[in-house]
Amino acid sequence: MFKPKLIVFDLDFTIWPLYSDAHVSPPFHIDDSGKVRDSRFAEVPVYKDTKKILSSLHSQGFKIGIASRSTDPEGANQLLSLYNFNQYISFKEIYPGSKVNHFKRLKADSGVQFSDMMFFDDENQNIMEVGGLGVHCVLVREEMTSDLVHKALEQFSKKQ
Ligand SMILES: [Mg+2]
Repeated sequence: MFKPKLIVFDLDFTIWPLYSDAHVSPPFHIDDSGKVRDSRFAEVPVYKDTKKILSSLHSQGFKIGIASRSTDPEGANQLLSLYNFNQYISFKEIYPGSKVNHFKRLKADSGVQFSDMMFFDDENQNIMEVGGLGVHCVLVREEMTSDLVHKALEQFSKKQ
């Protein structure tokens, strides 16, 4: 069964249900009950399957990357750190601009060819641009779920 060598996730509306550079106000912190909150004490959640997906893929030996166009890389990195997601992530590209740039750097840093990468994102524009490189792209219509990842891996294995 053919598998991707690098699985890349967008952040906003893929990993968590918000724009981390617009809907919430950094800096972020963890409250007494363990919830991540912003500077106005609003809760900053992630999708319910996110941790399960990242830890499961990581334990299966997949390399994981992040490609985000966030205008606040510091805030996004702080959230990844507070949620303890960095332990699963090998490559991070977080800055504005076309995601073609993000993926060129991911390829250079990881040594993985575009055809061996899989990418999850909620925006059609990113899917079109990155898909043009030859990356197997999956549009996230609602939210990241374990089921969506499972189906995408199945599809990838058939495509080769
Ligand atoms: Mg997004």
